[in-house]
Amino acid sequence: MILKRGGIAVLLTASSILLAAQQDGQSVIAAIKAEGLRSTEAAVTFHTLTDTIGPRLTGSPAHVKAARWAAERFKAWGLDNARLEPFRFGPGWSLEKLTVEMTAPRYMPLIGYAEAWSPPTSGVVTGTPVYLGDSTAADIDRLGPRLRGAIVLMHRPQTEFLRNDRPEPSIGNGPVQTGNPPLPGPSSATSTFAMLSRLRALGAAIALTPGAMEHGTVRVQGYPGTPRDAVPTMVLAAEHYNMLVRMVQAGASPQLRIEVGARFYEDHPNSYNVLAEIPGTDPVLKDEVVLVGAHLDSWHTATGATDNADGATAVMEAMRILSAVHARPRRTVRVALWGGEEEGLLGSLAYVEQHLRDDASRRKISVYLNDDPGSGPSYGFYMEHNEPAKRIFDAWLAPLRDIGVRRNVIEGIGATDHVSFDRVGIPAFNVIKDFHNYDVRTRHTNADLADAVSAEDLRQSAVFMAVMIWQAAMRDEPIPRSRR
Ligand SMILES: [Zn+2]
Repeated sequence: MILKRGGIAVLLTASSILLAAQQDGQSVIAAIKAEGLRSTEAAVTFHTLTDTIGPRLTGSPAHVKAARWAAERFKAWGLDNARLEPFRFGPGWSLEKLTVEMTAPRYMPLIGYAEAWSPPTSGVVTGTPVYLGDSTAADIDRLGPRLRGAIVLMHRPQTEFLRNDRPEPSIGNGPVQTGNPPLPGPSSATSTFAMLSRLRALGAAIALTPGAMEHGTVRVQGYPGTPRDAVPTMVLAAEHYNMLVRMVQAGASPQLRIEVGARFYEDHPNSYNVLAEIPGTDPVLKDEVVLVGAHLDSWHTATGATDNADGATAVMEAMRILSAVHARPRRTVRVALWGGEEEGLLGSLAYVEQHLRDDASRRKISVYLNDDPGSGPSYGFYMEHNEPAKRIFDAWLAPLRDIGVRRNVIEGIGATDHVSFDRVGIPAFNVIKDFHNYDVRTRHTNADLADAVSAEDLRQSAVFMAVMIWQAAMRDEPIPRSRR
């Protein structure tokens, strides 16, 4: 039976046990699946975030636009307290213009992207690049004034590449290796840090570095603390970078034309988390919160589709579904769309700092469920070595077998927002997703575009999350805490 909102007051005066009996079990789960698996809303949310709003670099106007839009959707779907919560971030940055091309001895456009928070070039920069990959610091110092206004190839040709996605954690029954496979670093005779400080002092125009991915894919990040007078930096597709080095070394004198237009938003030091709720209905348990989240921010060279518009869509759509089926959870369900994840989990850390400073407040968070690394369907959860919680989550997968769940793994995973909660003793778990092409193709790259995600997987992930939220919100007992 699906309860209508009008019936709730009557039920509450009866007893929470009756309410639980009415809404527990298969009827609400069946309603969640019926609503979520046939809806086109997830695709609309996802394409708005990716195609329409675009990359959502923390601090950029696009991220704020996405946050405001998400809050409006939560209101439209009937959630309570939809709001933006600010946290201190630093200047935002957005790319306004980018040209990188070879103009001689033949014309060829190149694949390359400015690192986030790179200063702009001073207008159009032209010239034959100077190769410094084999130069010592003393060599660089000797070049001195010849580097003023120069385009610099900082590193040796890239010969090591990220060629394999991580092992899929959901397959098999054994232990799994989790986490991000390392990206091979660029190689040079002088450290990148030492080189950049010299290039800055000598007034180089822009420093180019090769990516470590193949086939025109470029992974590009950046550092929000980059000084305004730093040398502009750009990552070139490895194949193009390597070609330029070979041409310079062969005396072919390639001519480049480069322009980076970038804007800093010094007057807007805040970023935002987006929060909204479905209030709990149990007289006692409603003070407890099932917190569900995903980061809304992304890197800047594509549209942040697999990292992490799909995760943000899954948790948004899960909330829409729960509202649409008039689910009356015993615990309060709170959704969070974090900012600043890519710069160091900053939004979720700010939330803990703002709301969860003491043990009493932490105890009110029953569980935190996060949707981030990977793409495709949801297969289960990383259980962070919490055996008692794993037994509960294993049982919760039962009603989801028909939509492709596989298993929970006892291992943990790092480097995403559940860590902010886990480290203060809150049971906090991340969804296991698919890793096909995630590491080698889309994560933090110019290929992280909407085509990498299917509408069917978005629906599945949303239904998966809604059913897990529902079960967490209805359980009599708290989720076991493995630490503290
Ligand atoms: Zn990421």
